[in-house]
Amino acid sequence: MTNIISLSDTLQIGGTNIVLIAGPCAVESAEQVYSVAKTMHALGLRVLRGGAFKPRTSPHTFQGLGLEGLKILRQAADEFGLLVISEALGVEQLPLVVEYSDIIQIGSRNMQHFPLLWAAGEQQKPVLLKRGFMSTIHEWLAAAEHIMSRGNQKVILCERGIRGFDPSTRNVLDVNAIAQIKETTPFPILADPSHATGRTDLVFAASRAALAAGADGLLVEVHPNPAAALSDGEQSLPLDSLPSFVDEMRRIASAMGRTLES
Ligand code: PEP
Ligand code: MN
Repeated sequence: MTNIISLSDTLQIGGTNIVLIAGPCAVESAEQVYSVAKTMHALGLRVLRGGAFKPRTSPHTFQGLGLEGLKILRQAADEFGLLVISEALGVEQLPLVVEYSDIIQIGSRNMQHFPLLWAAGEQQKPVLLKRGFMSTIHEWLAAAEHIMSRGNQKVILCERGIRGFDPSTRNVLDVNAIAQIKETTPFPILADPSHATGRTDLVFAASRAALAAGADGLLVEVHPNPAAALSDGEQSLPLDSLPSFVDEMRRIASAMGRTLES
């Protein structure tokens, strides 16, 4: 049985409802985030994602707006009644992420950053623990236990793809892992079809597969103009395709005997 975790007074994850989290890879400007939040609200989506502190592979690329990014996210979310999820890259930033967001994200590269896991374990807010891209399921579950060992039981897992040998996709979505977590552990599990594929053209299919395998939700990157994105434009859904994405995921949810948010 999957734990049901409250994200707010009116939104839970791990039950029959599927939670679709959307937003840009990185917060770039107030206008960008506002337009995404507005569209999400119109579609009945409830949780806005956006990176303020970015774990970029190269230090020569956009590193995020930091605190300013968190403020932008919070403001846009409050305007439309949404929740915020954002990544804490280190223990130093955790208090800021806790102050401005509703769910703490721990990224793939930090899955075994134990001091960060312990610090997140001392918080009250839910923690989304992304799978390390070279980590086994056993290591991932052990990392979740590190968080819980400090008191915070509100751990949600996110399968975001593991490294494969084929360079045609950024990662490989481990659908087995989704089914296995669902069958054998109490953790709610999300899938991130954006980082799992690295390709906009594969995001719909990967999302369908994840929900069919039993995922409790999706974390998907969306951008008003992916071609101009400062981070991960090549895997972001254009904002104007979000309505058809939500419509399709609602149909998969219903085929699985589940609902999608509203
Ligand atoms: C993200 O979701 O913003 C992100 C950086 O993903 P990951 O940690 O899975 O690479
Ligand atoms: Mn990204």
